[in-house]
Amino acid sequence: MTRQVVLATLNEHKVYELNQILAKVVADLDLEIVSAAAFPGVPDVRETEVTFAGNARLKAEALAAATGLPALADDSGLAVSVLGGCPGVFSARWSGTRAGLAAPRTAKDRANVTLLLEQLADVPAQHRGAAFVCAAVLAIPGEEIATCEGRVEGRLAYGPRGSNGFGYDPIFVPDADPTRTLAEFTDAEKNAISHRGNAFRSMELIMRERLAN
Ligand code: IMP
Repeated sequence: MTRQVVLATLNEHKVYELNQILAKVVADLDLEIVSAAAFPGVPDVRETEVTFAGNARLKAEALAAATGLPALADDSGLAVSVLGGCPGVFSARWSGTRAGLAAPRTAKDRANVTLLLEQLADVPAQHRGAAFVCAAVLAIPGEEIATCEGRVEGRLAYGPRGSNGFGYDPIFVPDADPTRTLAEFTDAEKNAISHRGNAFRSMELIMRERLAN
């Protein structure tokens, strides 16, 4: 029997990436990934923790409690060395209200990138190290939660390049291929090395143990 797993994100780019990353385990275990949007009564969770794992846990636990279903959440962001790990958990709202409160996500992403580039304008290449970090949490009602983390190391470019992906992808040059930003990678290439890919490939092993029919 098909078992539903609810995904605690409304960010369509993340939903798209996670569906690709989890495609094999979803097929093997006969799972159906449903969006939190399908449950109108589910409360909006404020990300009040100061770690990726803490925020992912808040989102997964709230969704599992509200739906009675196994819930998967991810919390992620960009950690820049010279900024002491910022924007970190503030990645989505680094530029505050610069783009306007009601601006679409793409406009907020652009404002975040512009601000970060301004802040690092005088920082030389050897000090532009950064990492994308992702915490994945699986909450199954009545069971211990499971947490997995993934990272991808790289460097920040001086200007945006490429049109794939989202967020800070156009200025993140992964160490795995210093000739391109992540926004110049195909979806499959990004998933193969990304923080989200790495976190959910670890989570896949736990899903195979805990969600097998
Ligand atoms: P979250 O939705 O609270 O996890 O915030 C994640 C934020 O971190 C996004 O809005 C992006 O700004 C950034 N981010 C996370 N993952 C990625 C990625 O794969 N590429 C580019 N930016 C990312």
